[in-house]
Amino acid sequence: MVQKRVNEIIRVAVSGAAGRMGQEVVRAVSKEKGIELVGAVDVHQFGKDAGEVAGIAPLGVAIGNDLRQVLRETGAQVVVDFTSPRAVFDNARTAIEQGVHPVIGTTGMAAEERMELQELARKAGIGGLIAPNFAIGAVLMMKFAEMATNYFPSVEIIELHHDQKLDAPSGTALKTAEVIAAARGDNRPSMIEETIKLEGARGGEFARGIRVHSVRLPGLVAHQEVIFGGVGQTLTIRHDSLSRESFMPGVILAVRRVMASAELIYGLENLLFQES
Ligand code: NAP
Repeated sequence: MVQKRVNEIIRVAVSGAAGRMGQEVVRAVSKEKGIELVGAVDVHQFGKDAGEVAGIAPLGVAIGNDLRQVLRETGAQVVVDFTSPRAVFDNARTAIEQGVHPVIGTTGMAAEERMELQELARKAGIGGLIAPNFAIGAVLMMKFAEMATNYFPSVEIIELHHDQKLDAPSGTALKTAEVIAAARGDNRPSMIEETIKLEGARGGEFARGIRVHSVRLPGLVAHQEVIFGGVGQTLTIRHDSLSRESFMPGVILAVRRVMASAELIYGLENLLFQES
């Protein structure tokens, strides 16, 4: 296992390097001081330079197709994963087994899988992060929603994403619903018997009365509204990621911080609010 010292250059691999988010991470890492891209993995663009695939100058890092091999051969200390809901669990397990800190942005993992990874990481003493949303504004949206829940127990979540997104609802919407359900406790709104004329019209019910609606359209990136309703008023908390660059400060923060952690943290807020 490669030994890590926090003040040295951090060696990073990107899994899903040919994808939309992976390319953005390659560009972000290549600009960052103290972080070096040493490995890239994807099921596409095998053998091509990760920098060229990301539309920048060559970085001398060829895209491999075997994560375990890439981690072993490059001595990566951190792997950033933006792949697919089908691949993320095995990728994270491989990273932990290799003593590499996972920074996971891929959404769609089941809660049981996440907990299994957290247990594996705890036993191995490997710190990492699973974040359904790396945008600081989205993390604040969840924090503000948690605060508002004390005053407005009636709430619905509308998340809107580009039409290539594989999972629904989004990881951010599920995390927001979780946070609201925990903050609300037994303070639940009363509900009426409804007649549903079109299946799904009222969205998915995460917990009693907390409904989540997913919109998928070309042109969108990642957006969410949390709408609270009270007597004679509503409160809407909305966040928009207008480009994938919005996620990069969070990803870079995570890459720097997981090196010093010995647990697999769930949610960027647990790194972000530690700092202030
Ligand atoms: P994308 O463009 O489809 O990119 C994913 C790339 O990973 C694709 O090239 C995909 O190939 C590849 N891949 C699939 N399985 C792989 C494996 N086992 N090993 C290596 N590469 C593999 O998707 P995206 O838009 O970048 O999004 C990726 C994930 O990030 C999604 O789960 C999305 O919801 C999530 N996301 C998270 C955040 C956040 O802030 N946490 C923000 C945006 C997106 P195929 O196309 O053949 O599957």
